[in-house]
Amino acid sequence: MRQYPLEKYRNIGIIAHIDAGKTTVSERVLFYTGISHKIGEVHEGEAVMDWMEQERERGITITAAATTCFWSPIRLISKAADEAERQKIRDEKECRINIIDTPGHVDFTVEVERSLRVLDGGVVIFDGVAGVEPQSETVWHQADKYKVPRMCFINKLDRTGASFENAYWSIREKLTPNALAIQLPVGLESNFEGVIDLIERKAYNFEGERGEKVIEIEIPENLKADVEKYRAELVEKIAEHNEDLLSRFLDGEEISVDDLRKGLRNATLKNQLVPVLCGSALKNKAVQLLLDAVLDFLPSPQDLVELKPIKGTDLQGTAEIIRSPNDSEPFTALAFKIATDPFVGSLTYFRVYSGILKKGTYILNSSKGDQERVGRIVRMHANKREEVDEMYTGDLGAIVGLKNTSTGDTLCDPDNAIILEKITFPEPVISVRIEPKTKADQEKMGIALRKLSEEDPTFRVSGDMETGETIISGMGELHLEILVDRMKREFSVEANVGRPQVAYKETIKGQAEAEGKYIRQSGGRGQYGHVWLKVKGLERGKGFVFVNQIKGGVIPQEFISAVEKGVKEALDKGVVAGYALTDIEVTLYDGSYHDVDSSEIAFKIAASMALSEAARQAKAVLLEPVMKVQVVAPPEFLGDVTGDLNARRGRIEDLYDRANMKVVDAKVPLSEMFGYATKLRSATQGRGSFPPMELNHYEEVPNNITQQIIEGKK
Ligand code: GDP
Repeated sequence: MRQYPLEKYRNIGIIAHIDAGKTTVSERVLFYTGISHKIGEVHEGEAVMDWMEQERERGITITAAATTCFWSPIRLISKAADEAERQKIRDEKECRINIIDTPGHVDFTVEVERSLRVLDGGVVIFDGVAGVEPQSETVWHQADKYKVPRMCFINKLDRTGASFENAYWSIREKLTPNALAIQLPVGLESNFEGVIDLIERKAYNFEGERGEKVIEIEIPENLKADVEKYRAELVEKIAEHNEDLLSRFLDGEEISVDDLRKGLRNATLKNQLVPVLCGSALKNKAVQLLLDAVLDFLPSPQDLVELKPIKGTDLQGTAEIIRSPNDSEPFTALAFKIATDPFVGSLTYFRVYSGILKKGTYILNSSKGDQERVGRIVRMHANKREEVDEMYTGDLGAIVGLKNTSTGDTLCDPDNAIILEKITFPEPVISVRIEPKTKADQEKMGIALRKLSEEDPTFRVSGDMETGETIISGMGELHLEILVDRMKREFSVEANVGRPQVAYKETIKGQAEAEGKYIRQSGGRGQYGHVWLKVKGLERGKGFVFVNQIKGGVIPQEFISAVEKGVKEALDKGVVAGYALTDIEVTLYDGSYHDVDSSEIAFKIAASMALSEAARQAKAVLLEPVMKVQVVAPPEFLGDVTGDLNARRGRIEDLYDRANMKVVDAKVPLSEMFGYATKLRSATQGRGSFPPMELNHYEEVPNNITQQIIEGKK
């Protein structure tokens, strides 16, 4: 039996730049919602959400855990006369909130992407001193891509230098003009006391050891004018998005609190407005009102039918299928994360988009074409799991022990197959060579790497065919470090790790044709493979496209796939400096065969030869990852910092002030950034800082540098 109707579900993510306070906010949420009875501070390594060992040690949340909790509006509960009345409010208003944890560190983009895909609404957290930081922008744009309705929470208003106004304006300027303050702080920095709800015109502070008592207070006299100013804007903006409210507003009518809330909810669900709230998670202020706002303004799965319909295709990929979020529809779910748990084995996290999943039944993994039996289903809480028999539309949970499921696969009713849209992942930019320490490690390493790459689609494993070494690639140094660390802890594999290297790529700028012939006829059965290939450069990100234009059996059908294989092998080897060729279309248009001597292997070799030749003629070039970099430094060091970035082939894109510091935004090739943190520290007497950088795009490497790369000097 379904416990909560679908409109009382909120599947949300807490999204933030690293250090903005996501873990602290999540902790408070779990505390106030009653799941966690003790507030674990991050610096003590006790945070409940961060249950993986490394996360505790590093104090960052790496793995997206889906956590369930429950909430009824504190606004009403705190004013209730007695327990009976509180119970009545809970019975009528309590919602189930599933929190999908998203990491703040860009090296874990994959976690951000997959969580954005399955959540319905987001709470974006900002540091009240720093405001919008470069990665906040990245995550914001990712959320735009998935059309996620969201709210902002300006945290840390207790910190010295905190400013609600500055942070709010930076959101409006850098992220969206539709951000709309619905709260104002009472006091700031060490005098930060509480917040004012602009819609209700009520102020609250938070008493008790953990701020658990929400108390209504008078709006301080000196803030009354501000409240009216901000509220007037709020009413006007809400009215703009609703015809009925607009005409009442224009007639000078007072719009009720309920109507304002409804209007704001509708506009938020359509991504027309973004409510902005504030507080201090560490000082236990205002997180409860944030939860109220989650119920008030963020969507239930039902609310997204128009904005983001549940779309997929049939197994052939031809006919479009739409599901509605309803228990009576066929079961449809997306596997959004695979994790290996030391106690239960493999966990496949999934979100149910429609229908019901029952324990003991068979489901179809439509992306792979396999049926599997659902043994155990668990609902995840921050620090425990609960076994359940059924999961309903809108639920998030995990299936234990599925064998052949990867991140992004669709799970569905075998009689009503559907394939939901895949999650797209960015390409890795950094790689290192790894070598098992002992013979015993060698065997285990293969298994460990395969498991880890199944969990994380941005982690790739490849072999260097010439040296027999293993190369792993990922999103950044930290990403690879953590994976090597996990290999040691979870799979007991010790490995020597090489120097991080840039994952260059190759592509071609022009077009060309070339012939490949592999003919050996010296008595007995010979070899005969002969092809003509055309190659053409494609737009960045298009990958590899193979076109077969062979007509009239010039090359028999059975050898075509051997040609494609040969082409792929040659692409992997590259022609400039040994990096894989990408963004290329290869057309097989002519050739010949021999009745007796032709074989798959001969065609494969001929195709490889033709491809390498054609690519060389078609102006093959190297591509390098160019990163988005931000440097914060005291003004007296600005000249040194920009000079150094220029020397690193950087392009300075923006220069501005933040508090007493200068901020430089630049684009710099990744290969020039190794060791930058140390250099910056010494150049600025330890005062400059440099948040983690992220991939902006791939760009052609200048000729002189290409030469250095070929010679192995870079
Ligand atoms: P995350 O990286 O986004 O998960 O951020 P954390 O929750 O780990 O917080 C980063 C640091 O900021 C920690 O040292 C927290 O104690 C601190 N912090 C979090 N929220 C607040 C706040 O409201 N005020 C202040 N002063 N510090 C905070």
